[in-house]
Amino acid sequence: MSKQQILILPGDGIGPEVVPVGVEVLKAAATRFGLDLSFDSGLVGGVAIDETGQPLPEETLTKARAARAVLLGSVGGPKWDELPTANRPERGLLGLRSELELFANLRPALLFPPLAAASSLKTELVAGLDILIVRELTGGIYFGEPRGVEVVNNERRGFNTYVYSEHEIERIARVAFELAQKRGRRLCSVDKANVLEVTQLWREVVTAIAKDYPDVELSHMYVDNAGMQLVRAPKQFDVLVTGNMFGDILSDVAAMLTGSLGMLPSASLAADGSGLFEPVHGSAPDIAGEDKANPLATVLSVAMMCRYSLDAGEAADAIEAAVDAVLGAGYRTGDIASGGADEVLVGTQEMGERVLAQLEQGS
Ligand code: NAD
Repeated sequence: MSKQQILILPGDGIGPEVVPVGVEVLKAAATRFGLDLSFDSGLVGGVAIDETGQPLPEETLTKARAARAVLLGSVGGPKWDELPTANRPERGLLGLRSELELFANLRPALLFPPLAAASSLKTELVAGLDILIVRELTGGIYFGEPRGVEVVNNERRGFNTYVYSEHEIERIARVAFELAQKRGRRLCSVDKANVLEVTQLWREVVTAIAKDYPDVELSHMYVDNAGMQLVRAPKQFDVLVTGNMFGDILSDVAAMLTGSLGMLPSASLAADGSGLFEPVHGSAPDIAGEDKANPLATVLSVAMMCRYSLDAGEAADAIEAAVDAVLGAGYRTGDIASGGADEVLVGTQEMGERVLAQLEQGS
């Protein structure tokens, strides 16, 4: 297999603390599983604004386009909060998503059994939870035109357009069906087809495509019910697929089922399988530089990178197993500690070293 290029973008706040942990884990997995990777790094977000005046410098974009996978930490922080919207650190991230045409956002909600007590739901409802939300990321109401605020009859009127074309629905649905085939072979498509024409089309297109995936059981659910079911009985789901706005909301609901932001990875994929991998959390300025950040969301993002962009499923399994083993042995960063007598409180660095040792031990 030819060399695969990885771009590392630590970003701001705790990004430069957690990303190096992810990189070490990726290098160890590459050694163990014979992956041929080359690494480059770049600037994005506030640090890029400080050094170049731009949240997404052209050089970073060029490197990102050449990479098979990008590992990003987080962007933003109080230092840049007063900047106009168009120049804020978040623009760097949004720019990457749109320039790389990352239309499929994958957000797993996986609850490692040792952490079941951290969920706001009863342990039996969430223990062993493993669901995947597939969100369309480049269309829908967040991007639809026309949009704006205008004055009509002496008052302001705001408007947005909720629009999806068939090809946009089809490509995200195919991603979701294919993921379901590799998991529990159940796909739930979430819409609001009782009210919105655009989601009636969504339902029709998803239903038509289902014929190509006879081994996947397809169901449909209205978004209000899906929100309710996610907190009532989340384990009924395997893969959920939905549009941009509903996915934004439902993936945050599902995230909280697992208890901590510090444990949540994500992937955003382009049509050719290349992608951007990042923890769901932000730059956590309140704990930045204190060796307190949980690096596991980044480590689990690296596992997703192996599985979805590097065609290295075994490496992904091994990374996840290493995380599970470290948690099982009681190691906790502050955000996932519950004060149990068998817990050992560790910092970012030590958590990373524990995962590495586990990963290397498994080889
Ligand atoms: P945040 O996710 O940074 O932090 C929320 C809370 O969770 C904080 O108390 C923080 O300490 C804690 N936390 C987050 N990640 C953690 C980790 N890995 N380990 C331990 N604790 C962790 O959200 P926020 O405070 O709303 O935002 C801070 C900055 O991050 C803002 O500038 C915001 O715009 C930016 N942000 C960036 C992204 C991104 O880069 N994708 C996402 C969300 C927010």
